[in-house]
Amino acid sequence: MRPLRVILLLSMLSGCAHVQPADLVLKNGRIVTVDEKKPEARALAVRGDTIVAVGSDAEIDAYIADSTKVVDLDGKLTIPGFIDGHGHFLSLGLSRMRLNLAVAKNWEEIVEQVRVAATKAGPGEWILGRGWHQDKWDKKPEPNIEGLPIHNALSQAAPDNPVLLEHASGHSVIANSKAMQAAGISKKTPDPAGGKIVRDDQGRPIGVFLETAEDLLYDALEKSQKSRTPDQIESERQKAVELATKECLEKGVTSFQDAGSTFEVIDFYKKLAAEEKLGVRLWVMIAEENDQLETKLADYQITGKLLTVRAVKTYIDGALGAHGAWLLEPYSDLPESTGMLVTPVELITRTAQLAIKNGFQLCTHAIGDKGNRVILDIYEKALGEYPEKQDLRFRVEHAQHLHPDDIPRFSKLKVIASMQGIHCTSDGPWVEKRLGKKRSKEGAYAWRKLIDSGAIVSNGTDTPVEDVDPIPNFHALVTRRMKNGKAFYPEQRMTRQEALRAYTLNAAYAAFEEDIKGSLTPGKLADIVVLSGDILTVPDEEILKTEVLYTIVGGKVVYSR
Ligand SMILES: [Zn+2]
Repeated sequence: MRPLRVILLLSMLSGCAHVQPADLVLKNGRIVTVDEKKPEARALAVRGDTIVAVGSDAEIDAYIADSTKVVDLDGKLTIPGFIDGHGHFLSLGLSRMRLNLAVAKNWEEIVEQVRVAATKAGPGEWILGRGWHQDKWDKKPEPNIEGLPIHNALSQAAPDNPVLLEHASGHSVIANSKAMQAAGISKKTPDPAGGKIVRDDQGRPIGVFLETAEDLLYDALEKSQKSRTPDQIESERQKAVELATKECLEKGVTSFQDAGSTFEVIDFYKKLAAEEKLGVRLWVMIAEENDQLETKLADYQITGKLLTVRAVKTYIDGALGAHGAWLLEPYSDLPESTGMLVTPVELITRTAQLAIKNGFQLCTHAIGDKGNRVILDIYEKALGEYPEKQDLRFRVEHAQHLHPDDIPRFSKLKVIASMQGIHCTSDGPWVEKRLGKKRSKEGAYAWRKLIDSGAIVSNGTDTPVEDVDPIPNFHALVTRRMKNGKAFYPEQRMTRQEALRAYTLNAAYAAFEEDIKGSLTPGKLADIVVLSGDILTVPDEEILKTEVLYTIVGGKVVYSR
């Protein structure tokens, strides 16, 4: 052996014996890394915000010095921090500052919540709430139009305050007469393109506004908020971010993919990121009109550990619950309707071109089989125009109901299916009503078929539509069991390992972040969750009892139970 080689060998050996100490060592755990090169380990070492080594207890002991914080994992399951692949971060925080209508068992209880709120509100102050869902109530409202309530009771409960209550899906609202007055709504107001004002048999608006029609009310709300000072707006947002952050960290979510923020909100996040005031890593889709995107997109590409912006959000259709999802064939329970296209195809096509030109992903909300088919057509055409760009990772948000012919197209076009397991189990009880048995079986929440066809499926909660908690969502992915105890087409279940991957490495991949997140691999960010139960092996029913013991972001323990 020549001398140089001997020296190199010696220095490598001594390198092992005297490694630079770690700041944090986790040991004595059942570490599942989601890294195929080393799927399981007992211990890991973190320096700064980065994982430096993963291995056996003995191997990692070498990294412990007096200055090292050592956590005994007590054999608990330790996995990469959950990445919520689709949610609404600010809305999550804001929803905690509004009436939570999801707890109401029926329309009467909602009216009561509003009546109580009205006694506390100042004159003219808007009363806001979210989370109602007519299909989850224990009885139908009386009177009702197609199962939807009529505003009268609400108008009586709050005669002096505009009331605006958002549906759980975010795709419709109910307003009282004061709010409709503020929005200038009358019998003569026409339905806007892509929306519907629900009316009684005399043509009078009943207070329910579907899809783009809800903008009539939101515009009025926005107008009323114009008098707020920038400081008031900022402090409300600050509070919302604090609440959302706290909730995410308590539930083990270390990264959050925000499904649509304006440039203004992104500016606010930018400021927080610069001041290192973001506790959860955000990856944000821009939700703006094309004319705004044309001029500003190039300036808004941000890549950072706390904040990344490299995607655009658009919508092709509405939600299934509100008959807004765009279907190839009519609704089983509303034969005169196939749902609706909410953004003209030419506009989405233009958005796709803008995204590609500026190096952004495009993420399109698509629920119904026609919505999904048409967006895949748009993607196919746009991607075909740029054959030199191979790795664009365009996404379909929800991909909820697919025609069997379109399922293989995700893999073929390398389009990511950004799905929400928990939507399946929470929508499940009424999906067959909307779609009938055949369509439900063939293509509703068909993640097994997508995975088998080679597609990348990522997972999220769409919070605040659903709870941001990964545990019930993970349970939904692997059981498809609904609250009523029945499983919604259980043949479409994921395996436990697939579900973990969908919530970590696949979500990172869906954001071009697999080099820094999604697995416990040396060189990646030390975003880690320790759970009380082993969700990869316990019986199905025990998954839901699992609690988060530690949440670690960038090597810092930010939550411990
Ligand atoms: Zn969403």
